[in-house]
Amino acid sequence: MKNMKTSFSLNLLLRDNIKRLVPYSSARDEFKGEASILLDANENAFGSPYARNYNRYPDPLQHRVKEKLHRIKGVPVENIFLGNGSDEAIDILFRAFCEPGRDNVILVPPTYGMYEVSANINNVAYKKVNLTIDYQLDLDGIAEAIDAHTKLIFICSPNNPTGNSIRRQDIETILVNFDGIVVVDEAYINFSKQPSFTTDLAEFPNLVVLQTLSKAWGLAALRLGMAFANKEIIAVFNKIKPPYNINQATQDIVLEALEGVEIVNEWIKEVVGEREKLSAALQVLPQVTHVTPSDANFILVKLEEPRALYNFLVDKGIIVRDRSKVELCEGCLRLTIGTPAENKTLLKEVKRFYNG
Ligand code: PMP
Repeated sequence: MKNMKTSFSLNLLLRDNIKRLVPYSSARDEFKGEASILLDANENAFGSPYARNYNRYPDPLQHRVKEKLHRIKGVPVENIFLGNGSDEAIDILFRAFCEPGRDNVILVPPTYGMYEVSANINNVAYKKVNLTIDYQLDLDGIAEAIDAHTKLIFICSPNNPTGNSIRRQDIETILVNFDGIVVVDEAYINFSKQPSFTTDLAEFPNLVVLQTLSKAWGLAALRLGMAFANKEIIAVFNKIKPPYNINQATQDIVLEALEGVEIVNEWIKEVVGEREKLSAALQVLPQVTHVTPSDANFILVKLEEPRALYNFLVDKGIIVRDRSKVELCEGCLRLTIGTPAENKTLLKEVKRFYNG
């Protein structure tokens, strides 16, 4: 790849309908300040049968949650978007930047499946540039695939399902050379020693970093994903999103849960320790060909008879992810790291499958 500064222009990238869009203005957007009688949003003024507050629409821009995330992550509030899972942020990226039937995006498989699904839902073409055999970016292949209508490149690091981190320098090369948006999905960053790209937002105007509370934070059921980017891109996200995309119960519980940084950090240490223990224990089995070194809370393991082992484990009530038919993951199962007891049971059953 050539080394030249990116000539990034948000206006050139946005779809025309999004540029022209007058966003929905909710009752809570129009009025800001203190009031004692709220008769502006057609809510039930009597209350709700469940608990206090839930009769009122939630804060559309989730100020309190963002303020707390700012304190934890050091990213300014104006650079944070919150979505109904990071899957919502992925979908909004397509709707903001990709004209169906004209634009395209680049995917680097094997990687998280939702980028392709979201492209298909939005009728946007994608070009696949496979990772190399050591699960790193094929920079030349990506450079060749980029054309005048390429709007987004999705890079997942640590990558799902392989677990490894993508070389930082390679991601920076793309950020510098590509005029479109580079999406760095850091769903598993808490399990990695790699620094987050959230510290580089000022340097790269075309960078969107995705994170989620669904993994290390243990809040998958609440559906809270984060996108970090320069404030112009965040303004586009906010223009497109449904007005009340993060419900009040989620905002309330997340505010409390974000007080629990210490316990989360303890869990991360424990998961990383278990990951290394399980990897080592599997690696010595003669039927295990390879365990990809992982920076995530799962490991990709290449082993004999993956499908039969998968079915054997299902019979024992243990569900893992069969990736054995995925290109570049042939023969592999993806194992999420569980509690020490769960990992012990898994290992015992894997040994029983091979040794009887
Ligand atoms: N990105 C990656 C790489 C993931 O693996 C997942 C979930 N499996 C997500 C995003 C989606 O996360 P969320 O629960 O925030 O929608």
